[in-house]
Amino acid sequence: MARTARAPKTASARRPAGARARPRELVSIIAPIFNEIDNLPELNRRVQAVMGSGSYDWELLLVDDGSTDGSTEAILALARSDEHIRPIVFARNFGHQIAVTAGLDHARGAAIVIIDADLQDPPELIPDLLAKWREGFEVVYAVRAEREGETWFKRLTASIFYRLIYRITDVKIPLDVGDFRLLDRQVVETLNRMRERHRFLRGMSAWVGFRQVGVPYRRAARAAGVTKYPFRKMLRLAINAVTGFSYFPLQLATYFGFVSAGLSGLAIPVVVIMRLIGHQAFFGQATTLIAVLFLGGVQLISLGILGEYVGRLYDEAKGRPLYVLRQIPPPTGGRS
Ligand code: UDP
Ligand code: MG
Repeated sequence: MARTARAPKTASARRPAGARARPRELVSIIAPIFNEIDNLPELNRRVQAVMGSGSYDWELLLVDDGSTDGSTEAILALARSDEHIRPIVFARNFGHQIAVTAGLDHARGAAIVIIDADLQDPPELIPDLLAKWREGFEVVYAVRAEREGETWFKRLTASIFYRLIYRITDVKIPLDVGDFRLLDRQVVETLNRMRERHRFLRGMSAWVGFRQVGVPYRRAARAAGVTKYPFRKMLRLAINAVTGFSYFPLQLATYFGFVSAGLSGLAIPVVVIMRLIGHQAFFGQATTLIAVLFLGGVQLISLGILGEYVGRLYDEAKGRPLYVLRQIPPPTGGRS
């Protein structure tokens, strides 16, 4: 796989020689960036403040997901001035879940933290996540106890979404949990072997098992800018979540078929008897038309659902890489 443009220094290279007998463990922090120019300095400052005062070595992977607002240059400038920062630059926008995946591919830490770049996930929670990891949990997810500054529509759709997913999928994905979480190296190694294209990472990290625990937090309002998840992208993610972890939508057609066949099985003798005794029941085109339209609609919806699964099969069969990196030459004498 293609590597990042700038060759990262190893953890030990950052430490003065002989300063510490036992190397400090490395924690990787992954932040996907799509047009977050106004949030980058603050994100960097707060992560520095939290990790700089802790007892771990750390790296911050900034994954530029095809930004067009100058975030790319800002990330590269940050990386030049601070060796904790590792840039990963996409050739175009591949989406949030893929950006996080690229971060997981490149992270080298013993523990890996996924965080949003808009500071809705406070970096100050990372020490709490690390403390749980120290206790032996391999997946420590942050639970949204409160949400600030989001529209009622976003809250409502999010709430319905989490509950629907919980009900119909085969893995028990915890409620009100986003991608803000800590993953142990073992979990990341497992996730890195799951190369499915239509990804729902929180489902995938529930699927792997291991010991998991939640830590409650207050989800802040976006620090700057607007959401990069319009309704269309949210819907895509929801469909990916459902199709990735459940066959339930496919089975719906079967259930519906049995119900409507059963109903007509009952209706046929009833109508025949009513006609025989001279009752003028169910004459006219309207009845026929409604029945045809209704069943036609149900069939088309079922076909559409089938299409969602077939399209995903086709995407997997093509086997394209999940993302394409833009190679940016290092400023002077670096390796690539
Ligand atoms: N993001 C991304 N690619 C996208 C959309 C979003 O990398 O196509 C990043 C975005 O920059 C942010 C994170 O994903 O760091 C979460 O997005 P956002 O805050 O817009 O989503 P919301 O919190 O509104 O659900
Ligand atoms: Mg956000």
